[in-house]
Formats: sequence, C-alpha cells, structure tokens
Amino acid sequence: MFTRNPRGWKFKKLDKGEAKEFKRKVELFGFTPVVSHMPYLPNLSSPKKLIYSKSVKSLMAELDRCATLGIPYVVTHLGSHLGKGVDVGLEQIVTAVNQALSKNESDVMLLLENTAGTKNSMGSSFEEMRRILDRIERKDRVGVCFDTAHGFAAGYDLRTAQGVNSTIERFDSTLQLNLLKVIHLNDSKGDLGSGRDRHEHIGLGSIGEEGFRALFHHDAVRDLPFIMETPIDTRRDDVGNIRKVRELSS
Ligand code: ZN
Ligand code: MN
Ligand code: MN
Repeated sequence: MFTRNPRGWKFKKLDKGEAKEFKRKVELFGFTPVVSHMPYLPNLSSPKKLIYSKSVKSLMAELDRCATLGIPYVVTHLGSHLGKGVDVGLEQIVTAVNQALSKNESDVMLLLENTAGTKNSMGSSFEEMRRILDRIERKDRVGVCFDTAHGFAAGYDLRTAQGVNSTIERFDSTLQLNLLKVIHLNDSKGDLGSGRDRHEHIGLGSIGEEGFRALFHHDAVRDLPFIMETPIDTRRDDVGNIRKVRELSS
C-alpha cells in the first residue's frame, strides 16, 4: 500500500485518530504484514542535489509514517544514477539509506526491490544489491523485496522449476535467503533479459504458469507474503489473478 499519494512530493501529516483506526482495521481484517511502498518520485541514487535531498527526506518521512501506523516494512526502488555510473549511484543510495535509518528510532525495515535493468537503474543484479547491502550500517533493518517480473526482465529465468531453483540458489549464495521478506508477484510482458519493466497477468506473460507453479511450491518462498502488481483490463482483474494464483499453488 501507499501511505500517501505516490505521485506527488507533498503529503498531509498523519493524525493520531487516523493512525489508531488504521491499526484497528489491520488487526480486525488480519492484513499482516502490511507492506508500504515508497512514492514514485524519489530517486535515492540521483546525482542531482535538490532531487536527492528531497528523496532522502521522503524516505525519512515514510519510515516515520510506517512507525506511526505500525507497518513493519517499506519497499523502495534503488533509483537511477542518470548516466553518472554505478559507483556514483552506489554512493548516493548507501548514504541515503544510512542517513534515513540513523534518524529513525523505530524497527521499521527497509526492503530494497530488485529492478528490471532499464537504463541507468540501480539494483538489477543480486551482485549489485549485495554491494549496496554490504555498506548499510543497520544490517538488522534492511531486507529484500524480490519482484518476479523485474528479476525475469533482468535475466533471472523463472519459467521452469529448474529456472526457479537456480534463481533462488543464486539469490541465496549472493544475498542470503533470510533477507528475502516479500515477493512482488508479477508476470512479465518482456522477454528474459529484456530489461523492460512491464507487468503482466499471472501466467499470461513470458514467465508463464509452469514457472509460477514451481515458485509457489518452492520451500524457500512458499510461506512469504506475495503482493501482486498486475494489470486490470478486459482479460482479467485482481480477483481473476488471485484465483489463478490459488489454482497454481494448490
Ligand atoms: Zn516497486
Ligand atoms: Mn514491484
Ligand atoms: Mn515494475
């Protein structure tokens, strides 16, 4: 979920009554764990001063909001170095995360989301995510959100049981499975390694039903929270995708 409008920089402060009501409803409906997603405009790897400082402030604000709302996880994209190179991006993202976590006293965890490998984007390989994680001071407060469509577009095969197994093994050997807290569950419109970030209905894209069935039955991930970010169109809606997931996981 978003705790505020994800398409702008501005937001209203949370009021106490609202936060209390939110927590009551989460408990009532058993929606746990709640996972917040950072708004879309911040770029934590930006080499541009103004955007960068606004981005770090947005991250701090989001950690605060989640602490107030009792939300345990914030998912963030790793941003774009805008052509300045991975080393510049790395410096920016690491500084941003260290700064934000040091100024927030809660135990809200920040989950770094892998990216599809579009031009200049940070974090499309497990190795690059490892480089980032290695330099984060509060190791107890960072984890990973693995997006299946992004991973597939970045070259991690998920089409077969063998592909799923080897992707999970690569994740474990580079990042360690205990860092994996959430799966963003999306099929991919683009092909393996295409670098395109285009989500598709579960089973209807290039990953396909066989791959998802294998994923849902893999011991390392089957009990994790899965969150779909699939389209809604004439072919299918959210209910249709949940139905498909239940079918493939039974
Ligand atoms: Zn995301
Ligand atoms: Mn995602
Ligand atoms: Mn995406």
